[in-house]
Amino acid sequence: MSFKVAVLPGDGIGPEVIAEAVKVVRATSDKYEFEEAIIGGIAYDQTGHPLPPATLQLCRDSDAVLMGAVGGPQWENVQPASHRPEIGALLALRSELTLYANVRPAKTLKSLLNASPLKGDHGMIDVVVVRELTGGIYFGEPRERRDNGNTAVDTCVYTKQEVKRIAEQAFAIARTRRHEIVSVDKANVLETSRLWREVVTEMAASNPDVKVTHMLVDNCAMQLVRYPGQFDVILTENMFGDILSDEASMITGSLGLLPSASMGPSKNGRLFGLYEPVHGSAPDIAGQGRANPIAAILSAAMMLRYTFNDNEGADRIEESCEKVLEAGLRTADIFEKDCQLVSTTKLGDAIAEAVKEG
Ligand code: NAD
Repeated sequence: MSFKVAVLPGDGIGPEVIAEAVKVVRATSDKYEFEEAIIGGIAYDQTGHPLPPATLQLCRDSDAVLMGAVGGPQWENVQPASHRPEIGALLALRSELTLYANVRPAKTLKSLLNASPLKGDHGMIDVVVVRELTGGIYFGEPRERRDNGNTAVDTCVYTKQEVKRIAEQAFAIARTRRHEIVSVDKANVLETSRLWREVVTEMAASNPDVKVTHMLVDNCAMQLVRYPGQFDVILTENMFGDILSDEASMITGSLGLLPSASMGPSKNGRLFGLYEPVHGSAPDIAGQGRANPIAAILSAAMMLRYTFNDNEGADRIEESCEKVLEAGLRTADIFEKDCQLVSTTKLGDAIAEAVKEG
């Protein structure tokens, strides 16, 4: 049986890091088929739209999507704004594919412990933040100015159904890990948070194999810095997740290492997801072979784990990244004294080699 992956390299360093991710997945197995399409600025230049219909159709026809990054200075002022890569491609793709769950692991790699702003073992973190992506205050209506612009209004809305479907994703992910969820809210103040806690509490009762606790968001922000190792899966709403996932990422120390997934409803009995590095298109280093491909490679590992239930392949990729870093190979962004400076391709080659050996 083969699985179809839509590959959207995008702009800037996107094609460079995605080529390495595809190479590494191929090293695990030949059961994955890849089909490429254009997205972002390059698609705008070629077709007049950053998300051409053929690209969207390919995503719909695939089991998963692996994306690089979109955008760059030459498309920042494209008019109308809806044709800018970040809006017209990225946000449009998330909404077209109903990707309501954003999943961001933050894991300190032992060989890069020094990169963490928290010193020594204190900086060890291995958490997955599961953030609701399409509801809450970022989308609630009305949002407007009143009183001649002197009053601003945003609205926060959640339905039980929205909370339930994101919580289901968190339970599924917790089952691939330590079976522990910390659900984060502000239930001492907000009505939406009280609904959130009610729904998660009900679901915890019917999923007793997963330990669920509740934490207020302000406490969670402190606890992440005080003792990040206490967290396994953090489940939270859109705005809290936006902030906490960045805080958790920062503890690992490098943008070039962080993968992510945006997941939607299951398709053919599998979790459908768009997998992409957290970083952007890095126009300042594009085309120079300096990009760190690890975030893209780890995004591909997430794809194997979550969409294709291929834990063995995902483990091999993650362990190979660790192995190659432990051997001292580094791209410029994570270079340390006594290490060997290598290009994007060389690092990808070494990881693919380690996967084959593993
Ligand atoms: P960025 O993440 O592209 O770059 C920030 C800094 O980190 C740069 O100095 C860059 O060189 C470095 N960097 C990023 N990824 C790296 C990697 N893999 N290896 C080594 N160094 C890396 O953020 P930015 O500069 O704010 O944005 C650049 C463009 O990317 C903008 O057009 C922005 O809108 C877009 N963007 C796209 C996405 C996405 O497609 N998901 C996300 C963020 C930004």
